[in-house]
Amino acid sequence: VGLEYITNLVETGDQLILDGREGIIIINPSPQTINEYRKKQKKFQIYSKKLVKTAQQPAVTRDGTHIEVLANIEFLDEIKHLQKFGAEGVGLFRTEGLFMEGNGLPSEDEQAEIYTRLADSLKGKPVIIRTLDIGGDKILPDITGTMEQNPFLGWRAIRFCLDHKEIFIPQLKAILRANIHGNVHILVPMISTLRELHEFKKVLQVAKNHLQKEGKKFNPDIKIGIMVEVPSVAIMADVFAQQVDFFSIGTNDLLQYTLAVDRGNRRIAHLYSHFNPALLHLIRLILEAGKKARIPVSMCGEMAGDLVAVPLLLGMGLRQLSAATLVIPEVKNVIRNVSLKDCQKLYQEVKQKNTTLEIQKICEDFYRQIFKEEVPLPIHNDKN
Ligand code: PEP
Ligand code: MG
Repeated sequence: VGLEYITNLVETGDQLILDGREGIIIINPSPQTINEYRKKQKKFQIYSKKLVKTAQQPAVTRDGTHIEVLANIEFLDEIKHLQKFGAEGVGLFRTEGLFMEGNGLPSEDEQAEIYTRLADSLKGKPVIIRTLDIGGDKILPDITGTMEQNPFLGWRAIRFCLDHKEIFIPQLKAILRANIHGNVHILVPMISTLRELHEFKKVLQVAKNHLQKEGKKFNPDIKIGIMVEVPSVAIMADVFAQQVDFFSIGTNDLLQYTLAVDRGNRRIAHLYSHFNPALLHLIRLILEAGKKARIPVSMCGEMAGDLVAVPLLLGMGLRQLSAATLVIPEVKNVIRNVSLKDCQKLYQEVKQKNTTLEIQKICEDFYRQIFKEEVPLPIHNDKN
């Protein structure tokens, strides 16, 4: 969590204030600071409660455009919060957690049960299940083998899965079996070439053939999407758009690969900003390609849950966002308080700028203008 040498500074019994909003810890605060923070906490609790009450309502801009807001989840436990926090579906189910729990690899049946429970409980709403994205920072020592010099550029996600069909095919079969209501979509991570996409489609067909032979119930009619998180795909988005049913923009990786900035390295965290104009340029290419090919484009990277970035994303043309469940009420609140027209103007202004700081400032000013002092300003990457 980026707290570095905090354990050297803190003694057993110390009192701490953890301000996750600002990204700071205060050790043994003065009574005055405690008092200030109690007030701040109360204010935030009142504000959050108010927001959660409105979370079930759709997110419609002031000028009448509905923006779909979905949830990123990792564990089934999270399903129970989706309704309360107003998720309109699951935009990203990260399946790595199932494989990293330490009880060995989950079988096809175990996975089918989990995915079906998820699909059942969200009947009528989209559930986007991402295939296994291990490698990079998500290491499974037993199966990914020796450490690599550059794990994020290495044997990760679809690259690993295409080499391990004995793991991949059962997962694909489980996803197909869960799609009985037709609300499940498959999302493939880390695609970087067309060939990988074609390989993936072949493996999916093999999974369908197996199910057919085994006489298991499944729905072969499933939408296939790819994470756009490698620059090669963003640059060639118009070509990829012809061959998939939807795009999901993964800004966490797209940013790290575009700027050559390790997303987990604190020393260079100041470079890791989604307000970077090169990233915005790629997002624009992806959106344009999606529009031309008439396929939906959503965003499931952290940028989609950054309240300051949301108006810019709407201005750029995004109509579907997927964010951590807890942040959904706030994302919806931002959407309800802006007009698309103003967001488009904001984007026009941003387009004139070539530096991250200028763009970030324009977005922050826009945000402050809407919310005045009412809302605490969210965390930014330069502080993370
Ligand atoms: C992303 O890269 O933006 C993303 C959502 O995937 P993950 O963070 O799981 O790599
Ligand atoms: Mg990613």
